[in-house]
Amino acid sequence: MRLSFYGAARTVTGSCFLAEVSGMRVLVDCGLFQGPPEVRERNFKPFPFLPAAIDFLLLTHAHIDHSGLIPRLCREGFRGKILATEASVDLLGVLLPDAAHIQEMETEQKNRKGKRAGKPPLAPLYTVADAARSLQFLEGVGYETPVSLSPGVTATFLNAGHILGASMILLTVNEGSVPLRVLFSGDVGRKGQRFLKDPVTVDAADYVIMESTYGNRLHPEENELSVLREVIWRAYNRGGNVIIPAFAVERTQDLLYDLSELNHAGGLPPVKVYIDSPLASAVTSIFNRHRELYDQETQSLIRAGLDPLNSDFVHFSVTTEESRALNESPQSLVIISASGMCEAGRIRHHLKHNLWRPESAVVFVGFQPVGTLGRRILDGERSVTIFGEEIAVRAEIVELSGYSAHADQPALINWLSGITHKPRQVFVVHGEPDAAEFLRGRIESGLGIKAVVPDFASSWTLVADVRAEALWDAYRRLGDRIQETLRAADPAETAEIVHRLEAVFNGRK
Ligand SMILES: [Zn+2]
Ligand SMILES: [Zn+2]
Repeated sequence: MRLSFYGAARTVTGSCFLAEVSGMRVLVDCGLFQGPPEVRERNFKPFPFLPAAIDFLLLTHAHIDHSGLIPRLCREGFRGKILATEASVDLLGVLLPDAAHIQEMETEQKNRKGKRAGKPPLAPLYTVADAARSLQFLEGVGYETPVSLSPGVTATFLNAGHILGASMILLTVNEGSVPLRVLFSGDVGRKGQRFLKDPVTVDAADYVIMESTYGNRLHPEENELSVLREVIWRAYNRGGNVIIPAFAVERTQDLLYDLSELNHAGGLPPVKVYIDSPLASAVTSIFNRHRELYDQETQSLIRAGLDPLNSDFVHFSVTTEESRALNESPQSLVIISASGMCEAGRIRHHLKHNLWRPESAVVFVGFQPVGTLGRRILDGERSVTIFGEEIAVRAEIVELSGYSAHADQPALINWLSGITHKPRQVFVVHGEPDAAEFLRGRIESGLGIKAVVPDFASSWTLVADVRAEALWDAYRRLGDRIQETLRAADPAETAEIVHRLEAVFNGRK
């Protein structure tokens, strides 16, 4: 198998790996590059492969950094099948059109400025129509059911415990006497995560392509429930609101899980909770459709009539009028809204109406990259500009880092060490260079497995054990025969044989 790294190589985003095997071209993930401009630029560069020549795209999960270039791939000629779990297919149905909408809006904004500067208009990376058309290539698959890609090649999707529907993908190639097993970790989730079953441990893999988002970090010990309860009480006692910027997928639902638990235990003041994001509402109904994926704990909550996503005290505001009305409410509210980094969406309105109020609180539950509005608020700026208006930052600002959906460094090592048939090599991807390099070192020193951090566009040849094992066997047999011959020969002859053998080996140098 020839494996090439066309994304998430020495960076977190843009996951994209091309496996050429048995005359097929199989892409694993086709993600959007996000973050600094020099990384985002890659979204507009030609694909390093011919989209029309790709037979399958296997998708680990619905996050945009793994799926966000699908509409472009399809528009540029991809006609194969996109395989993903049923829940991922449902999530992509809302996430890809949403990503396209953001692309269209950003381009429109740029073009408005560009027009005034006398520049020609730019086309968006892809449109909502492109996204809608790309959805027809999606095909849902089940967990732990090998799917045949060709007579010798299967793909098996395994639960990754990261977000709803997330998977690791095991590619098995049966061409020689020994199979070649290549495992793509996707994003590895944390154990004990709300809703989700723990990531599976895999029995055997020859090569592992492994994420390293938290490759050099530890999740802090934190009691999210009590911090959340206290901040809500404080805001309630002051007569303010609690504003929580949150990603629409998993984070919003995880918050509802905790709020419902607090509410049930009588731990909350009489506040109303609002999900003010059409995307988060759509995603929440997809969660409701896939309860079969919930873990034991959540299943028993539902059986006991305590469904975290369907509590009476949670409301979904869908229309902009409903959203605007929240700002007029005399009652204390908890408002969960997107985007998680405060860069777009309704959250900006809520920040505008609450940041200046000392009685309100803003709770950050997700990573805020440098340069985002969220980061500026967390960094303690006294005032920020929202919709061209200067807003003072007087609200209580709280950061909760316990909601990560990624395994941290010890958990990643622990997951990898669970592979009983030790992999021959690990490719460390999906991490900032420091994180990837640190994890690589830990894998080599702690587990004794060869590990590399592949460069962007580098290609590697992966072989099944067959050839290596056959070579070692031949070598061993040759050694035995030489020993036998030496034992049988008389001492004078022995010297002559050794002399000749040396000549043979030297001659090969
Ligand atoms: Zn992810
Ligand atoms: Zn990711």
